Amino acid sequence: MEIPLRPESELQFPHPFKEILGLIQIAAKQAGVTRLALVGGAVRDCLINYNKITKIQKIHDFDFVVEGSPIKLSDLLLEKFTSKRVSNFRIHQKYQTIELSIDRIKINIATARKEQYNKSGFNPEVSPTTIEEDLYRRDFTINAIAFEPKTQQLIDPYNGINAIRSKQLILIHSRSIEEDPTRIIRAARYAARLNFQLSSESISQIKSTLSLWPWGSVHNEPFPHALSTRMRMELNLLFNKEPWESCLELLQEWGALSILEGGLQVDKRWKRRIHWGIRLRVPRLLCFIAGADNPNLLAKQLQLPTSEQKVMEEFFDLKSYLSNLKIKEEHSSPIFWCKILESRKWSKESICIAICFGVNSWEKLLKWYLKWRHIKSPKSAAELISSGWEAGPSLGAEISRLRYQEIETLEDSKYHR
Ligand code: ATP
Repeated sequence: MEIPLRPESELQFPHPFKEILGLIQIAAKQAGVTRLALVGGAVRDCLINYNKITKIQKIHDFDFVVEGSPIKLSDLLLEKFTSKRVSNFRIHQKYQTIELSIDRIKINIATARKEQYNKSGFNPEVSPTTIEEDLYRRDFTINAIAFEPKTQQLIDPYNGINAIRSKQLILIHSRSIEEDPTRIIRAARYAARLNFQLSSESISQIKSTLSLWPWGSVHNEPFPHALSTRMRMELNLLFNKEPWESCLELLQEWGALSILEGGLQVDKRWKRRIHWGIRLRVPRLLCFIAGADNPNLLAKQLQLPTSEQKVMEEFFDLKSYLSNLKIKEEHSSPIFWCKILESRKWSKESICIAICFGVNSWEKLLKWYLKWRHIKSPKSAAELISSGWEAGPSLGAEISRLRYQEIETLEDSKYHR
């Protein structure tokens, strides 16, 4: 099919971006940058909007690629846009990339680069190249379309425009997943958000690559450090910015959750956990991985913050404690649960995860969390002292006794109302 080349005006860039684009072009020329193109999500979403494929929300960031270094260009940009308009300016020397926001519009400018993956899942070695060759390192054909403002031409070596028209997500080459398995999570994010289908070849690539996982040099080791970081970032985007239910359904359908852990691939209860997690304000990712066979190990492999790894350990400990607890008559008493849950062995967050998980007696944990823990002794320490009590451990014990009595009275009155 003949693909029409569309002029920039027809691509319908949001209005404030047009002026920015003009000034970036002028700055690039002055900085001696030979070629500059817009690439990735902004071009994709403009084409989707133009072709009325799916309703795209606002385009929030613009990625440029240049032949040459963007560092000199960044100095000129800082000159052209007053400091009032520029924020979040950062330079990454290693990848020759600059990031800045102009009028709160996020702009990334990177040197066109070739990537070579010497070890699967590790960060690639990079070297400068042309814009056309840069497109090969990208994930899906729909993200490998560039628009060169100077010539007003679209560069589309992998037929990304056709893929947009047919709502297909297609990996660019056959080693894509092996090189960077985070592309699996990206596939789910785009498929769910844009309502696109992952091509059957791409699904086969995911399946065949995962059947060899963990492969090559990472055999028997946790994820390489760089992969863990990227995987965690992709998962955070999935849970916080995307229709996460559809994303997880797709990942499970493709057999792809096994990249995280076999237990999660067969887990049928993640929806319940995460919905409860939203109610109890627990991070969705934590609720999700709580269903793994070994959530502690997974939390470590994903390099979650140490505080979250600790929450996972406490949850695991609480879950084992409760599954070994022989439930007796007296265990229905709120006092029993207050004493256990206030022993400070387990943080509130880990108790919430246990509720989300649906551990044994989770209803008691929920009552404690929502109600019992907020009930105070009807008499304060000061009141007891003024009525003759002396400060010390016996005063503490009396306050606890009064509090437990209060909890029981409130519970009883609820049943006898
Ligand atoms: P959105 O921000 O709407 O999710 P985007 O396409 O702008 O979409 P980014 O994560 O900002 O997404 O990435 C910008 C571009 O960089 C992508 O369009 C893609 O071309 C490329 N890219 C990002 N991550 C990868 C990856 N892991 N593998 C290959 N290419 C990638």
